[in-house]
Amino acid sequence: MRVHVILPAAGLGTRMSTGTSTAAAPKQFLQLRGTPILIHTLRAFTGLPSVEAVYIAVRPNEIPRLKELLDAHQVGHKVRVVEGGDTRQESVANALAAVDGSDDDIVLVHDAVRPLVPPSVIARTIEAVEQHGAAIVALPAVDTIKQVERTAHGAIITSTIPREYVVQAQTPQGFKLGLLKRVFAEAQADGFIGTDEASIAERAGVQVAVVPGTIENLKITQQGDLDLAEFFLLQREKLQ
Ligand code: C5P
Repeated sequence: MRVHVILPAAGLGTRMSTGTSTAAAPKQFLQLRGTPILIHTLRAFTGLPSVEAVYIAVRPNEIPRLKELLDAHQVGHKVRVVEGGDTRQESVANALAAVDGSDDDIVLVHDAVRPLVPPSVIARTIEAVEQHGAAIVALPAVDTIKQVERTAHGAIITSTIPREYVVQAQTPQGFKLGLLKRVFAEAQADGFIGTDEASIAERAGVQVAVVPGTIENLKITQQGDLDLAEFFLLQREKLQ
């Protein structure tokens, strides 16, 4: 069984406070305990023997910076760099077009900004894809979830969605390679843009299994997330 990994890393920089200064930098290149977030994410996958190749999608102007980082951290051996697009879906589609494998291989798509994905979560996802053909990592909802209508005066609740019917999608999101290529082609033909790969499979009628995630597998989107990720990483280092 061969596993290919896609890391969409072409998101634009957003303003995130970095200590005493604020800087506009794509989050995936920010440092987490002295190493760029993207390099942490990459290492979570390249160390696994079943992973054949990792495709990283970045903006064209970031390609030289990425190549320098891969050399500096000596993590380029399984990596292919591809150009990202204007949406996450386009970035994944570009990488998917470059994947060299057979329909029965497994492809895992993982946010470049989730650097602390535990090996056990990756293993669970691969097992579930082997069993079901499509599986994503998700967390049970712990808060009460409200559906709202946006109005000029703010959000107004329209209903309460029972928590047992809701999970919060994380990544990896894994699929048989042939299946993912097929549903991406269908979405493209219909002009559908989804915010994750599962939504693209769901609309094609594919059943997608859910495997349990962890809070450690957080997506770094703001400064507080970076602080929390540092804390988790420190705990990990103490246990080693
Ligand atoms: O924007 P979002 O939070 O969904 O980003 C999730 C991941 O998708 C990030 O790793 C980001 O770099 C990536 N992305 C991308 N191409 C885009 C937008 C986001 O690869 N055009």
